[in-house]
Amino acid sequence: MDSKRCVALIAHDQKKDDMAEFAREHQDALSTFRIVATGTTGGRVQDACPKLDVIRLKSGPLGGDQQIGAMIATGDVDMLIFFVDPLTSMPHDVDVKALTRLATVYDIPMALNRATAERLIDFHINR
Ligand code: PGA
Repeated sequence: MDSKRCVALIAHDQKKDDMAEFAREHQDALSTFRIVATGTTGGRVQDACPKLDVIRLKSGPLGGDQQIGAMIATGDVDMLIFFVDPLTSMPHDVDVKALTRLATVYDIPMALNRATAERLIDFHINR
């Protein structure tokens, strides 16, 4: 069984460049995790970091956010890095809310922007 901790990566469209850059910068740290991601975000991260092994779920608006929420509920995700775009309305806004709600209910570390993600990843590597 894979004993690595699991990080979930999601980025809204306007934040995907940021996520790809974040992943490139923190490749070594991310390689210590099992990585799951929503479909399009996962593709971008995989392209940016070919050495990482990214498990791609459905695209967010097609159920990927809910898949990650379900994994949080079953204890299969240990950390959520979700670059949200607060300036665009989303058809799947309810899924986004449900996901961040579950991350709060299950008290997993959750970064909703890059500044927090940088600190979270550093903290996990240095402890
Ligand atoms: P995506 O999903 O990575 O498939 O674009 C992200 C989202 O929830 O918008």
